[in-house]
This record gives sequence, C-alpha cells and structure tokens, in this order.
Amino acid sequence: MNVFVLNCGSSSVKFQVINTDLDLFETDSDRCVAKGLIEKVGTKEAIIGLQAGDGAPFKAVEPIADHREAILRIKAWMEAPTTKIAGVHGWDDLHGIGHRVVHGAEKFTKSVRIDAEVLKQIEECADLAPLHNPANLKGIHACTEIFGDKIPQVAVFDTSFHSTMAEDVYLYAIPYDLYAKYKVRRYGFHGTSHRYVAYRYRKVVGVPKDEVNVITLHLGNGSSACAVKAGKSVNTTMGMTPLEGLIMGTRSGDIDAALVEYFAAKGLGSVTDIFNILNKKSGVLGVSGVSNDMRDIEKAASEGNHRAALALTMFANRVKKYIGAYFAEMNGCDAIIFTAGIGENGAKIRSLICANLEALGIEIDEARNAEAVRGKLM
Ligand code: AMP
Repeated sequence: MNVFVLNCGSSSVKFQVINTDLDLFETDSDRCVAKGLIEKVGTKEAIIGLQAGDGAPFKAVEPIADHREAILRIKAWMEAPTTKIAGVHGWDDLHGIGHRVVHGAEKFTKSVRIDAEVLKQIEECADLAPLHNPANLKGIHACTEIFGDKIPQVAVFDTSFHSTMAEDVYLYAIPYDLYAKYKVRRYGFHGTSHRYVAYRYRKVVGVPKDEVNVITLHLGNGSSACAVKAGKSVNTTMGMTPLEGLIMGTRSGDIDAALVEYFAAKGLGSVTDIFNILNKKSGVLGVSGVSNDMRDIEKAASEGNHRAALALTMFANRVKKYIGAYFAEMNGCDAIIFTAGIGENGAKIRSLICANLEALGIEIDEARNAEAVRGKLM
C-alpha cells in the first residue's frame, strides 16, 4: 500500500510517498519512494523540488496559485513518463492520504479518518495554532476537492502522543478557571517524531513497550525534548504553543513572561510584534546574530565569533537542563535519543549536551559520536 503523506504550511507543500508494506518499526530500509517540496505557493515563482527514490531531483520555478495547484503539479510529475517511482505510476497507486495536523487540542488523542465532523473539530482547534492548523486545513480541503472520497484521508496530530501527560504536568500554575474555560494548558508538539524514535529504540534494543524509559530529543529548527516512561509521553518541553521549552533556531524557548509587558513599555510594538520577536528573531539566531542554522553558527564559533559560541553553549545547556529535569522526574532513564537535523548530524552539539553528565551515568564515546550521522544506524 502507498500512502501520500502531506505536510502543508501556509505557503508550502511538503510530501512523501511511503510504501507501508514495509513494517515501520522493524525495517531499516527506506520506505519513502518519492518526496518533494513546493515552496512559495501562491506566487508566480514557486520553487519546486521533487525526487523519486534516490534518483536525480526535478527542480523548477513555476507559478503555483494555491495548495490545490501544488498537489496537481505533484500529480503531473508523478504521471510523467520520465518519473520512475517504485510501484507508483499515478494517483490510482495511492491508497491513502496522511495529513500532518499540528494541533489536535484535547479533542484528538490519536490519528483519525477525516470526515465532516473531524474537519469541523480541526477548525475549532485553529485558534490554538493560528499559524499552523489553517495551513494544514488548506491541504485537506485541496485533497477533498481533487480526490472526493475516492482515497481515505487521515489526520495525524503533533499533539496526540503527549495526550498521556498527567494533569499536574500539563497544567500551568495560573487560575484553574482559565484552563476550564479556554483549555489553556500544555499540549506539546513533535509527537510523531518523539513517538517514532521511542518505538525504533524499542525495536533496536529489543525491549517491550512498557520498558521504554528514555528521553527523546528532537533538535532541529524547532526543538523539543520528551520524557518517555513505559513507552508513553509523560512530559515534554513545548507547551500550549511551540514557543516554550528549548532554545530553537529563531524561538526563544522558556523566558520570563513578564518580558512581554516590559517590551511593550519600551515601545517594541504590539503584543503581536513582541511575539514576532520571540518566535522569529530570537533563539540561536537572536543570540548569535549569525544565522538560525547550526552549521553556520558552529562555523562562526570556530572562527572566534563570541556570540556564536554563546548561542551554542546556551542551546546545549538548555537541553542539558531538561535532561536533568526528566531524569529526576522519571527516577532515571535508559537512553537519550537524538533526532532531527541537529540531533542526527550535529556531533559537536551532542557532545556539548552530554558533557559533564557523569553524575547521571552519561558518558559520551567521542569516536562513535563522530561517526553517527543521519540514516546510519549505530
Ligand atoms: P530540521 O528542522 O530537523 O530539518 O533541522 C534543520 C537544522 O538542522 C538546520 O537548521 C541545521 O541547523 C541543522 N543541521 C543540519 N545538518 C547539521 C550538521 N551537520 N551539524 C549541525 N547542525 C546541522
């Protein structure tokens, strides 16, 4: 069976075609038979990059008016005689569509097949993720227009893996009425990633689910940590929105909430302007002034740039702080798992994070750490 997996942003459409006949958690081989990204959707100069298997990527710049056109452009590419996707010659070879949906609030604790009622509920979650859910919905509507009910569509939520967090973990220490009335609480994100790596650990190490006690670190442009106890998420660093927790590419992570009032008093603009600073101009970009990309920051730090070095140290220390917190909360754990762009490729950062944690029984083998890169199973 082939599943068309879609991750729709406000101006982008990212997809993979996954051959699900291979067991997700058992196999080391690549189940992704095609992938691609269309950026700047809604402009006359959309950037298209599409790739079948390990073949040469197709690249182009073309006008793409909206998400529907982007998906139809992918279809045209799939059906072109020059495109060779294993087992897929066109739409008829796709058997299901999986949509990433960022926020499922308390309504969705697992993936669901999309129908009119589910669509309504996803729309109702949109005020909790105004930057993400409306874009995800655009992808769902576009697919409904294109496919009707010919192919089942499923929504997979970033939040649902964390629905096992206990009340004392997910509540903020604010008036309880605000939770009761507005559902203000911590939800957590990156759930599909944390869940996947925790289950892969289970398969690699050969332990049953209820013995998976690990800390998973999703370190990419967006970053979060998760405490997984007996195979379930018991805590995670992101909160009601993806701003809380670790220092990220452009997001501050944890700060003193009183800064917002202080910035407003200093004339830094409206609440929206201030959150724009915290979401888009902070993190390692804000500290270093160099870039949000860790590779650029590492390079600048190695050339003696003090602020770049500071950003690296601050990033690693925030992760370390949460390792300590989760270690205490779980009364120990068996592994620390790194994933996403920085987690999989950034040997230096992994080393910084794991340094001086001998008291927790954590020591890093620098030679093996240097060898571990994306896609290579240790
Ligand atoms: P992601 O959001 O998971 O795609 O991760 C993207 C981030 O991974 C980029 O912004 C880079 O900072 C980081 N990254 C990718 N390759 C490396 C590398 N070799 N060393 C350090 N960071 C990397």
